[in-house]
Amino acid sequence: MGLAVPAYDNPIRAVNATLTRSAIPSACFKKREMGGGNGQKSKTARERNLEKNKPTKGSQLESNKKAMNIQCKVCMQTFICTTSEVKCREHAEAKHPKNDVYQCFPHLKN
Ligand SMILES: [Zn+2]
Repeated sequence: MGLAVPAYDNPIRAVNATLTRSAIPSACFKKREMGGGNGQKSKTARERNLEKNKPTKGSQLESNKKAMNIQCKVCMQTFICTTSEVKCREHAEAKHPKNDVYQCFPHLKN
């Protein structure tokens, strides 16, 4: 009874099936009961909001720059400083439909 050994081996491929799953365990969403922490939390949130609304020196300079006349970089037409972004976009769309609005008014990018 001689079993013929095949000349070739069928190599068993070890499939590396380590898939990284980004599934977040539902336990993370468990609500925690916190006693008396809410009042202080909303207070700090309010203070943070006030901080945000404070005009900083940087933004003040920025708005001063914006007060300068607006000029369309494509047709060099000038607009008064109070021209809103909407008006600029209207101009760009009406006069330069082939151009990007930022080509006419690069300042809108900021
Ligand atoms: Zn223009």
